[in-house]
Amino acid sequence: MAKIGFVGLGQMGGGMSLNLIKGGHDLKVFDLSAPAVAGLVEAGAEAAPSAREAATGMDAVFTMLPIGAIVEQAVFGPAGIAEGISKDAVYVDMSTILPDETRSIGGRLADQGIAMVDAPVGRTSAHAAAGTSPFMVGGATKDVARVTPYLECMGESITHCGPLGAGATVKLVNNYISAVCNLATAEGMALGLAAGVDQDTIVEVISQTPAGLGHITTTWPAKALADDPSPAFMLDLARKDLGLALTAAAAARVPLTTGGVAREVYTMASAAGHGTEDWTTGILRAVKALAERS
Ligand code: NAD
Repeated sequence: MAKIGFVGLGQMGGGMSLNLIKGGHDLKVFDLSAPAVAGLVEAGAEAAPSAREAATGMDAVFTMLPIGAIVEQAVFGPAGIAEGISKDAVYVDMSTILPDETRSIGGRLADQGIAMVDAPVGRTSAHAAAGTSPFMVGGATKDVARVTPYLECMGESITHCGPLGAGATVKLVNNYISAVCNLATAEGMALGLAAGVDQDTIVEVISQTPAGLGHITTTWPAKALADDPSPAFMLDLARKDLGLALTAAAAARVPLTTGGVAREVYTMASAAGHGTEDWTTGILRAVKALAERS
C-alpha cells in the first residue's frame, strides 16, 4: 500500500481522503482547518504541520483546494508541497481551476523533475464521500497509470482526456454545459408554471425528451457528432419554436435570457446557410465557424 499526502480536506477532499484510507493507504494530511484534520486523524490519518510535511516521503501527493491561486500557494508558497515532494512521487491536483493554471504549476514542477497529473472531479460531495466520482484526467500516460489505483479508491470512472491540463479543460466544458442547461431549465419551468401548468406534468414530459435527457447522447450521435446535416428536425423549425416560446414568455412577463441569445445564434446560423440542416449539426457547424474566425 502507498504513502499518500493529501492537502485540502473540505467538502470534497474530506470524503475522498477517507476513501483512500478505506483503500488501505497510509495518509498524511494537511488543511488550514483544525476540525477537518481532526476528522481524518480519527479515521487513521497522520496530521502534518504543513503542506511540505504532508508531501515529504510520499509516493503521491493530492490537493483538493478551492481555486488556482490557493493551489499555487500550497505548492510553491512557504512550507509548500514543492519543498517536500520527492522526485519519485507524482503530484495530483483535483481542484477545479483553469487549464492554464494547471499547466503553469506543472511546468514549474517539471523544472524540478516532478511529474504532475490533473484530475478534476465531476458530480457532488455526496458522490465524493460514496467513492462514486468521475475523474477527468490529464497528464503523461505513465504518470496517469501510476496514480490510477489511487483514483480508483475515490471514484468509479477515470477518463484520460489528454496531456496535462486536458482534464481541467473537460471539467470546464462539462460545468459550462451543465450551468447553462440549469438556467435554461429554470426559465422553461418558470414559463410553464406562469401559464398555469403543474410542475410534475412538466417534469413528466421533459424527462422523456432531449430537453431533460441531454442532447449529447440523444440527438447528437447520429447527426452533429457524425457531421450529418440531413434533418431529423430542421434548424429553421427549432428557430421558429424558440420564437413561439419567447412570444408566450413576453406576454406572461417571464424573462427567457438564454432563449433570447439562442434565437439570435439560430438566426445567424440560418443566415449562414444552415437553416435547412439538422438543428444539431447546423448549430454546431455555425458555432465552430464563429470560433474558427475568432
Ligand atoms: P471546500 O471549501 O469545502 O474545501 C476546501 C478546503 O481547503 C477547506 O477545508 C480549506 O480549509 C482548505 N484550504 C484552503 N486553503 C488551504 C491552504 N492554503 N492549505 C491547506 N488547506 C487549505 O471546497 P470543496 O467543495 O471541497 O471544493 C474543492 C474543489 O473541488 C473546488 O475547486 C471545487 O470547485 C471542486 N469541486 C467541488 C464539488 C462540490 O460538490 N463541492 C464538486 C466538484 C468539484
